[in-house]
Amino acid sequence: MLRIAIQAKGRLNEDCMALLKDAGINVAASKRKLVARATDFPIEVLYLRDDDIPQAVAMGVADVGIVGLNEVAERGEAVSEVMRLGFGGCRISLAIPRDVTYTGVEWFEGKRIATSYPNVLKHYFAEKGIHAHIHEIAGSVEIAPAVGMADAIFDIVSSGGTLVQNGLREVEQVFHSEAALIAHPSLSAEQLADLEKLKFRFSSIVESRGMKYVLMNLPAEKLDEAVALMPGMRSPTVLPLAAEGWCSLHVVIPEQELWEKVEQLKALGAEGILVLALENMIR
Ligand code: ATP
Ligand code: MG
Repeated sequence: MLRIAIQAKGRLNEDCMALLKDAGINVAASKRKLVARATDFPIEVLYLRDDDIPQAVAMGVADVGIVGLNEVAERGEAVSEVMRLGFGGCRISLAIPRDVTYTGVEWFEGKRIATSYPNVLKHYFAEKGIHAHIHEIAGSVEIAPAVGMADAIFDIVSSGGTLVQNGLREVEQVFHSEAALIAHPSLSAEQLADLEKLKFRFSSIVESRGMKYVLMNLPAEKLDEAVALMPGMRSPTVLPLAAEGWCSLHVVIPEQELWEKVEQLKALGAEGILVLALENMIR
C-alpha cells in the first residue's frame, strides 16, 4: 500500500488526476475529503497544498508525492526524485523594472529582491558571489517593485505575461521546473514494488504523450528510404497489401516532427496516410 500526496487544488491538480486516471488508478476527486482510496491499485491519495508535499513525503506522512521541482528545491527536504512527469513546466527567474538598464548579474549587488523562493535565490547568489537583501513574501511578488517594496523580484514565470503586465523584464532564468514524482528515502520492500509499478505506468504515459501513430500505404521499393526517415525506430511494422508492389507501414512519430515527416513520406509516394492518437506506449 502506497500513500501518494498530490495538490488538492491548483495548477497541478488536474494533470495529477489525469495521470492517475490514465495509469488505471481511479480515485474520487478531492472536494471535501483529505484522503481517498483507489479502487483498483493499492494506493491512497492524500490531497495537500503543494508547499506541504515535500515535507509530508520526507516525514513519511505520504510515501510518494507529485509536486513541482521548484517546491522540492525550495523546501530542501530529504526526498528522492523518482521521475519527471512532463507537465507543470515553469522557471524561477529574476526580473527587474522594464526601463532599468541591466548590466549583468552584478546588477543585483546590494539590491532588495522580493520572492517566495528565498532558499533557491540564496543558493544562486552564493554561487555568483552576490550579496543582496532577500525579502520573503508569500504572494503577489510581482507587484513589490511598483509599490516600492523591492528593486527586483525572483518569481515563477511560464509565459511571461504577468511580468509584462507589471512592467517587469525577465533578466536571469535561474531554475527550470516541472512536476516530478518524489519518494520517501526509505520505503519497505513491498512499497518499493508498488512504486516500481507506478513508475512503469507513469513512464509509459509520459513517453507516449506527444506521439502519433501513423499508418500509410507505400510502394514496397520505397520502404528502405521511408524507414531511414524514422531514425528512432528499431523496427517499424510492415504489412503486405493485396495490391502487388505495395505495403502498409506503421510508425510512431513525435508530434513536433509530424508534418515534416508526413511531407517527406508523401514525397516518397506514401498514400492513404492515417494519423492516430497514441494512448500508451509500453516498452
Ligand atoms: P497551493 O494552494 O497548493 O499552495 P499554489 O498557489 O502555491 O497552490 P499553484 O499556483 O497552483 O500553487 O502552482 C502549483 C505549481 O505549479 C507551482 O509550484 C509550479 O511548480 C507549477 N507552475 C507551472 N506554471 C506556473 C505558473 N505560471 N505560475 C505558478 N506556478 C506554476
Ligand atoms: Mg503553494
